[in-house]
Amino acid sequence: MSNAKLAGSNIVDFIPQSGACPLGCPDCYYNLGVSENAEWIKAANHLSPQDTANKIVRVNSGHDSNLCRDDTLILASPNSAVAFKHAFFNTSLPRFDFPRPVVFTANPGWMKWQFHEPATHWKWDNLMFVRFLVPDLTIETRIRLALAAKPYLARDLFIVLTFMRYTERPKKNYGYTQMNHFTHYWWAATLPSRRCFLNDMLRDEPTFQGRLGVCGGLDGDERCAACGICESTYWAWIAEKGLAKWAKP
Ligand code: SF4
Repeated sequence: MSNAKLAGSNIVDFIPQSGACPLGCPDCYYNLGVSENAEWIKAANHLSPQDTANKIVRVNSGHDSNLCRDDTLILASPNSAVAFKHAFFNTSLPRFDFPRPVVFTANPGWMKWQFHEPATHWKWDNLMFVRFLVPDLTIETRIRLALAAKPYLARDLFIVLTFMRYTERPKKNYGYTQMNHFTHYWWAATLPSRRCFLNDMLRDEPTFQGRLGVCGGLDGDERCAACGICESTYWAWIAEKGLAKWAKP
């Protein structure tokens, strides 16, 4: 049993952090009624080397690798029973000293219209791409996102937009539609309006060209196999930085 979104992709989930994510961001997909007891989440806690052979391991998707950080590093190290070669870590907290690249969510749920303030002391080299959550499709949100993305674009990082899903229809009606994937949720507007939002961002900020993507794409097939951003940015990072040794936890 595995995450259906990953079906057919070269990515496998590993979620060493147990229980619900203690950050508990109200908008997080994993807090939207997806039970931590779901079979694929339980399976992601108990990977075998066979599960991860020739795969890229996505560590703590829906959780945060900087929480219970030592546990994550021990479980993901080559000395553990899992021991994998290719991996990337997810976090929404600005600490990136992991032994593999990091996907950073710059505006986790509780600060969706605010952003972590980029700092020069960050370990920028470890960033694989930066994720921005998109709560709605208003002009104001577009402008805020473009401004917040600038420091990352200046460091040549790829930006990924994740259009937010809500269990309840947001009070302001921006054309949310009800969807049914693993669970029911409300999703910001229709495919054409999301495409429009992306095109407007590209028009407003030319430096986004070639460095802006949407998690799950915009052609209607949301599977990671169809999107391919995580895989392609991982290999690009490895090609540029090489496989560093795992740090001792
Ligand atoms: S960016 Fe693409 S590959 Fe990565 S999690 Fe989203 S859908 Fe999957």
